[in-house]
Amino acid sequence: MRLPDLTAFRRVVFFTGAGMSAESGVPTYRGAGGVWKQYDYHRYACQPAFDRHPDAVWEFHNYRRSLVAACEPNAGHAIIARAEQVLPSVTVVTQNIDGLHQKAGSENVLELHGSLWGVRCDATGERETRFDVPFEGQRADGRWWRPDIVWFGDSLRDAVVSAAIEAIRGCDLLVAVGTSAVVYPAAQLPTLARQAGATMLEINPDETPMSAAYDLCMRGTATEMLGRLAANLPSD
Ligand code: NAD
Repeated sequence: MRLPDLTAFRRVVFFTGAGMSAESGVPTYRGAGGVWKQYDYHRYACQPAFDRHPDAVWEFHNYRRSLVAACEPNAGHAIIARAEQVLPSVTVVTQNIDGLHQKAGSENVLELHGSLWGVRCDATGERETRFDVPFEGQRADGRWWRPDIVWFGDSLRDAVVSAAIEAIRGCDLLVAVGTSAVVYPAAQLPTLARQAGATMLEINPDETPMSAAYDLCMRGTATEMLGRLAANLPSD
């Protein structure tokens, strides 16, 4: 299949994973440069760990906050934000928790796995967005804020998943960028676009378990391949 013209589509979904932010310096889990392999992530990113040692879990998340706070959106994030301004409908469905799509200017963003910048108190039901680094996890009343992230063993938030399914089922182009397609249930969502007859593009330097579901696999980095895809996008 030839590279399609982005401006020919009316409802576009960008489905993004950690590889989207790799060129911003945010480590991926898998693939080249996946430095989270150094950590036993399960020890710090699950509810039982938080229940046992909230201070250690916050130390780990404050470390992640400090890494991401030092990162800027890359040219790929900027292209997606620009696409939202000039195409009839663009939705970002992301597995990332780094907030870089919003920092680049994207407004229609569905965060399947929550946000590193979100905190919630399960005792009171409060939710806040807090950019302080480090964030003081323990409240004055002794209760703890919890990172508002979908950890291992957590369920995805129904409202976010429903909105993502609606956008994906209704799109005419789905572009998956930088996802290893092994984290479920997020990994299976793009197949809904295929079933609905959308054109499917995958951007990833490596093959993934879902590659066969795509009409075209662009083997390269997010910035380079999104740059090619957006060649016809009006600049202002
Ligand atoms: P993953 O780490 O499992 O896979 C990353 C994928 O990106 C790999 O397939 C790799 O080949 C590809 N990749 C690497 N460099 C790339 C580049 N420059 N351009 C394009 N692709 C590139 O990531 P995942 O599929 O998103 O799943 C892991 C889970 O980890 C997600 O649930 C996500 O929430 C979380 N996570 C998020 C961040 C973040 O917020 N930036 C970072 C690490 C992990």
